[in-house]
Amino acid sequence: MSAGTEADSAVIGPGATIGIIGGGQLGRMMAMAAARLGYRTHIYAPESSGPAFEVSTHWTQGAYDDADALGRFADQCAVVTYEFENLPAAPIAALAKQVPLRPNGRALAIAQDRLAEKDFVRDLGGAPAPYHGVDSLADLESALAAIGTPAILKTRRLGYDGKGQVVIRDAGEAVAAWDAIAGQAAVLEGFVTFTHEFSILLARTPNGMIKSWDAPKNVHVDGILDRSTVPAPDALGDTIAKARSLAAQIAEALDYVGVMACEFFASADGPVFNEMAPRVHNSGHWTIEGALTSQFENHIRAICGLPLGSTATLGNRVVMHNIIGERVDDWPEFLADPACHLHLYGKGKGRAGRKMGHATWVLADESEPAIPGAKSAKEGSA
Ligand code: AMP
Repeated sequence: MSAGTEADSAVIGPGATIGIIGGGQLGRMMAMAAARLGYRTHIYAPESSGPAFEVSTHWTQGAYDDADALGRFADQCAVVTYEFENLPAAPIAALAKQVPLRPNGRALAIAQDRLAEKDFVRDLGGAPAPYHGVDSLADLESALAAIGTPAILKTRRLGYDGKGQVVIRDAGEAVAAWDAIAGQAAVLEGFVTFTHEFSILLARTPNGMIKSWDAPKNVHVDGILDRSTVPAPDALGDTIAKARSLAAQIAEALDYVGVMACEFFASADGPVFNEMAPRVHNSGHWTIEGALTSQFENHIRAICGLPLGSTATLGNRVVMHNIIGERVDDWPEFLADPACHLHLYGKGKGRAGRKMGHATWVLADESEPAIPGAKSAKEGSA
């Protein structure tokens, strides 16, 4: 375990201002957790407002690559964190000269590049799907010859919720796939046959203490997370234990501080690493009501050098369901269920594919919650 320096371990006490880069729903839920512990929050985002606006103390509108504006923002904060990874790495990493940046710039640089992330995890002994970096059509053709089909071409950067991805079912589709991602630097990945998807969420403090939550089983619909359920099936026990230990190794190797999420496929050969997020994660929203300490609170505790709270699960079973697009209009039906914890992000009108809120049920037994208007979620590989 890499021990932090004394300065790294200094406690940033309640009353201090936490800087959060990004003002979406993750920033909103972080700011709410920070306020509960008596901190102030200062959001930095390119928009003039957003989901975090009404729950934060200060809001600076500025471009993510405006080093001067970022510097003035950081001057007003005791620690700076971020709610998403698609940020220009250099100006953000430079903030560490002024103020603790947690997670650090290396974690950000690796997690925002699918190729760097897979190389890093493979070098630690983890198992991503077979992959090749692709910088040209010729690279794609030779990668397809090596990996075979089906395969998925993913842009190295800026992909999320299945965006920037093309499934290639036949080598003859190479030109169309390359055009579809507009010739951006990419990674070709072999298609994994999996029984389930799950994630490992952990929090790590500056002096190396790690706590992780029960692993949720995740079901995606149309490339977007639909549902996370805890606990994952017992049959995944061994696979999850291996993934948990890989995630802890990743956090230690990066000297990571804060909450980190790693997504995995459960395959017959064990856990296949998909991707990591250097931040709180949608598959951890269930922890708000379903765990003794939420991912948002433990993120705040970790970046401020406070002791972590227990990550124990409450209840027998916890189900979190994302509310996407116009389904936000079903809010009265969610509220009609007295056992449903409804979270709305204040985004106004629901556009297709946009995460508008989520709902969580903490259940005393193995029952399924009656989710208003839920699409049937498909599981397993296509
Ligand atoms: P990602 O943005 O990489 O998390 O991909 C979004 C979703 O696409 C994943 O959650 C999976 O359901 C599916 N997917 C991505 N990569 C693969 C793969 N190599 N094999 C099978 N399914 C995949």
